[in-house]
Amino acid sequence: MKIGFIGLGNMGAPMAANLAKAGHEITGYDAAGTSAAGAATATSGAEAAAGADVVITMLPNGAILRSVAAEVIPAMTQGAVLVDCSTVDVESARAVADMAAKAGLGFVDAPVSGGTIGAEAGTLTFMAGGGAADFDVAAPLFEIMGQKAVHCGDAGAGQAAKICNNMILGVTMIATCEAFALADKLGLDRQKMFDVVSTSSGYSWSMNAYCPAPEIGPQSPADNGYKPGFAAELMLKDLRLSQQAAEGADADTPMGQLAAALYAQFVEEEDGKGRDFSAMLPRLAARSRPAT
Ligand code: NAD
Repeated sequence: MKIGFIGLGNMGAPMAANLAKAGHEITGYDAAGTSAAGAATATSGAEAAAGADVVITMLPNGAILRSVAAEVIPAMTQGAVLVDCSTVDVESARAVADMAAKAGLGFVDAPVSGGTIGAEAGTLTFMAGGGAADFDVAAPLFEIMGQKAVHCGDAGAGQAAKICNNMILGVTMIATCEAFALADKLGLDRQKMFDVVSTSSGYSWSMNAYCPAPEIGPQSPADNGYKPGFAAELMLKDLRLSQQAAEGADADTPMGQLAAALYAQFVEEEDGKGRDFSAMLPRLAARSRPAT
């Protein structure tokens, strides 16, 4: 396939490189002038998109996606498919789907989980929204860049799945960290705590697969000085998207709201920026109970 790839950052560059390695003809563009191994480089998004069967975007947020889509959609060939893999608000995904449909193009929103390690290894999980025919066009590319793709429903459903998943992740990570901090103060050994919880009803991905306590459980960023991994500011971005969506849909999400506020404090007022989101454990462990 002839593929335009726009947004060659930490995630986009290795994803584009994997598509090139698999034999696809990739033309990449990034506003910062970055490139991807095996891909030709264009001088604009429109140039990367011209004549492509599929255009993939991997951009920082919904506002940038909307502006790139406005530039790129008129340059795309009728019948081609725009696949956005960025994590953006559900509204922007649906707005870009409408723009694409009006121009006779397909659209799939397909945010990912798996981080930069998954992008490099080609083991991402894709959560996709859009028409079945458009999903079918993108599916072989998801297979190269990832290990699993779930077609979640119409346009926006991929973003909805992503922010619901990450809202659970943010909340369970905080719950796991505050339980370790409480265990410390109760004199309970962290390894014993892990042995019990990881095989009891408090188990979760945060505890079992990504344990926030150093030297306990499988290797995780906690064993590497909380170097990300999944940075606290990216968790904050996703929690904010979940709360923006909850507000728009009139959904009551009290724990998601609290998690967003706590990560905002950690990232914007404390030392959380640039640390893994599991560094919530040393933060909580160092604190006393606030006065009531
Ligand atoms: P990044 O900042 O490294 O990459 C984004 C790239 O987009 C940058 O290189 C930037 O120069 C480029 N860009 C910005 N505006 C542009 C424009 N108008 N035209 C062309 N290029 C433009 O970010 P990333 O870590 O690669 O993340 C990309 C997306 O993936 C984000 O939406 C993020 O939330 C999501 N995501 C990231 C991770 C992760 O672990 N990094 C995991 C899952 C999802």
